[in-house]
Amino acid sequence: MFDVIVIGAGPAGMMAAGRSSELGSKTLLLEKTDSSGKKLLLSGNSRCNITNSCENVEDFINNFSESGKFLRNAFSVFFNKELLRFFRKRGLDFKIEPSGKVFPITNKADDVLRILIKYMKDSGCNILYRKEVLDIIKKDDFFEITTKDNSAYNAKKVILATGGLSYPQTGSTGFGFHIAKKLGHAVIDPKPGLTGIILKNNFLKEWQGVSFEDARISVYADDKLIHKDSGEMIFTHFGISGPVMLHMSAIIYEALDSGKRVFLLIDFKPDVNHHELEILFNEEFKNNPAKKISNAMKEFVPARLVKRILESAHMDLDKKSAQVSKEERKVLLEKIKGFKMIVQSVRPIQEAMVTCGGVSVKEIDPKTMESKIVKGLYFAGEVIDIDGRTGGYNLQAAFSTGWVAGGIE
Ligand SMILES: Cc1cc2nc3c(=O)[nH]c(=O)nc-3n(C[C@H](O)[C@H](O)[C@H](O)COP(=O)(O)OP(=O)(O)OC[C@H]3O[C@@H](n4cnc5c(N)ncnc54)[C@H](O)[C@@H]3O)c2cc1C
Repeated sequence: MFDVIVIGAGPAGMMAAGRSSELGSKTLLLEKTDSSGKKLLLSGNSRCNITNSCENVEDFINNFSESGKFLRNAFSVFFNKELLRFFRKRGLDFKIEPSGKVFPITNKADDVLRILIKYMKDSGCNILYRKEVLDIIKKDDFFEITTKDNSAYNAKKVILATGGLSYPQTGSTGFGFHIAKKLGHAVIDPKPGLTGIILKNNFLKEWQGVSFEDARISVYADDKLIHKDSGEMIFTHFGISGPVMLHMSAIIYEALDSGKRVFLLIDFKPDVNHHELEILFNEEFKNNPAKKISNAMKEFVPARLVKRILESAHMDLDKKSAQVSKEERKVLLEKIKGFKMIVQSVRPIQEAMVTCGGVSVKEIDPKTMESKIVKGLYFAGEVIDIDGRTGGYNLQAAFSTGWVAGGIE
């Protein structure tokens, strides 16, 4: 009989297992793949954006969806400062990028993983790989856990840290949702979060790779503005990606899911307003009257965008700047300040960086991570209905909830 069995060796599970063991509980970690932290190793392009430097808990929480408030308690015990101290104490230092993203100084997710594994081993935790948990049965005052290879393990406390549904090749295939439901928990339908947007426009191959450090994107559902944000974006073979789009993907998914028609208006020049852009247009056209409009437009948008923008404005590419009428200028200006792109869908949940949805926070005690429904059952990490923006928020949530779940009340 183990005191604690942790299921899943992602960041949440490893932290929970190490903590629980360190506090003296006889702990077993069961992982279905052949190694720990497969997703952690991919994080931040293998550099691991481990947390964000944002010092204020409330500001940090604002980077999560609505249920992020659930994290207040966990953050009050184990926040970014504590997380970095944990790793520094074990020999790994960090650097903070101007955006607030925190990375290991070595730029290697592997170094983060190595410390977590050592933490677990040093604290005496048992770790078994290739142990896919198939069932958890609640007996009177313990749990019986069965694995695919027909082994059975008993524990007084179980911590479910099996992740969400995204990147299933790393091991997170939604088992936690299935078992939580079986044990009587409400699970908010999993949806893709932080993923690319698939567009209907048929010329995307031509725009593929064109990126903007700052574009302003407005999302319309059934012709109503539902969201606006600005930041980095890149056109891809399927549509658009990049941080600003990733952050919008859950909102877009919701709108599409409720049957709405969704389109985006992209402002390629958010740094100047309509009036300022008009002045720049007039100057350019006045100073270079013989220049073809297709060349003049390159002063305002990347060259590869020009042809399609002019076509959408029904303009002849060879037209000279001097021949462009006031009306036509206005249309071009509108195209640059709000190019319409029709959304088809978002990339599938398997490709999403996080899973939105999961075990409802209403049924988990935020101070301990214990189920309010099944005594002795705990949750940690992405299996819980919590999802944050890019920037280190999701890993911090996984580590904080893992730390708390591994604690003793
Ligand atoms: C490409 C990519 C890059 C990312 N980059 C960042 C980043 O830089 N910063 C950031 O904050 N977040 C990042 N994230 C998100 C972050 O990695 C996740 O939120 C985090 O890994 C969740 O941790 P977790 O421990 O809850 O789940 P996971 O990391 O998904 O781990 C779950 C573990 O449970 C195991 N498991 C599942 N089912 C079973 C079962 N039945 N039996 C036994 N074991 C099981 C799995 O094999 C897996 O090892 C990124 C995500 C992706 C996909």
